[in-house]
Amino acid sequence: MAKINENYLKLQAGYLFPEIGRRVREFQKENPGASIISMGIGDVTMPLVPEVIKAFHEGVDEMSRKDTFKGYGPDQGYMFLREAIADNDYKSRGANIEADEIFISDGSKCDTGNIQEIFSQDSIIAITDPVYPVYADTTVMSGKTGSISSNGYYEGIIYLPCNEHNHFIPEIPDERPDLIFLCYPNNPTGATITAEELKKWVEYALQNQCIILYDAAYEAFITEDHIPHTIYEIKGAEKVAIEFRSFSKKAGFTGTRCAFTVVPKELMAYTSQGEQKSVHGLWYRRFTTKFNGVSYPVQKAAAAVYTEQGVKEVQRVIDYYMGNAQIIRESLSEQGFRVFGGVNAPYVWAGTRNHIKSWDLFDGLLREAHVAGTPGSGFGPSGEGFFRFSAFASRENVIEAMKRIQRISV
Ligand SMILES: *Cc1c(COP(=O)(O)O)cnc(C)c1O
Repeated sequence: MAKINENYLKLQAGYLFPEIGRRVREFQKENPGASIISMGIGDVTMPLVPEVIKAFHEGVDEMSRKDTFKGYGPDQGYMFLREAIADNDYKSRGANIEADEIFISDGSKCDTGNIQEIFSQDSIIAITDPVYPVYADTTVMSGKTGSISSNGYYEGIIYLPCNEHNHFIPEIPDERPDLIFLCYPNNPTGATITAEELKKWVEYALQNQCIILYDAAYEAFITEDHIPHTIYEIKGAEKVAIEFRSFSKKAGFTGTRCAFTVVPKELMAYTSQGEQKSVHGLWYRRFTTKFNGVSYPVQKAAAAVYTEQGVKEVQRVIDYYMGNAQIIRESLSEQGFRVFGGVNAPYVWAGTRNHIKSWDLFDGLLREAHVAGTPGSGFGPSGEGFFRFSAFASRENVIEAMKRIQRISV
């Protein structure tokens, strides 16, 4: 008899985005004339920049000629891309990361989801609350948790609450985790972490033999000089951290698919006998067994992000989104919302007025302003009373949405 992986049955049924979609469709059906503006999506809207498109086309053309055609690529990705990443994203920031510590993949979602496979089944996982749902759901799928309790927490996961009180930066937990997911700049709160705060986590991991799984998907949106762009700016992090990066938000690759994961050679984990093993070796084994790489034209397109022209063009798009974020911040704050994020991240995290529930603001906003956003409670219990506005919309839509919000009663 074929039996299912029953851990999947523990997953919370109504996933956030389908539920948003359902409510928006229902409203649209009842109000066919309403033009709904989405401020909820975690997807980019601007096209790939010309420098990237040029390289992408060249890559495709090379695949069409016998002398430049390419089959399977190198195991960890093409060297031209891994070297561009090592030089521009790491060495230029004083982080000593080499090209052979970088693994090119088709997305950070898969990498953050797959990484747990190389760690022990009895690993204790810590995640923030609110959180990018992938870390929690893949922990559940892997069988490391019990069921979800009435307070919205899975049994067996250590939750690190992020709220106004701690400025959305988690405190070190009392109970000791093995693996800690951190995401800065953060989705959904838009908060980011200073070097001193990140140093506390790195030192904790060094002292307690834990590993930090650091998702820096929004690194390119950092505007303040003192904010670390990579965890490897912190001394000792190469011994305790894996970093995930993606071209998705940085360069509009959500539909093109390219990302990378850094697993430093110095990073060690332990056998049940306490013997040290290289995590790099394990990830290499998993990666090359279950994955055959990102297509050549896509890797070539990703490398174009690092050319002088590519850097300029990509930055212009990021500035556009961050201009949106500033408009959202200012308008919401004028309307009496408590506003966080949106300075080093393309998300503005707003506390609801009169502390109404996240879904009540969602419904009011949809009904009265025809604007759809994302209820904070969908990212975890500590997100209740908050709302996420995405800056990945067009400027016109952002301005129009902010105008409409002035008339809502909630
Ligand atoms: C969008 C996003 C990613 C990127 O995922 P891809 O699979 O690379 O598109 C990773 N982490 C977070 C927190 C995100 O919001």
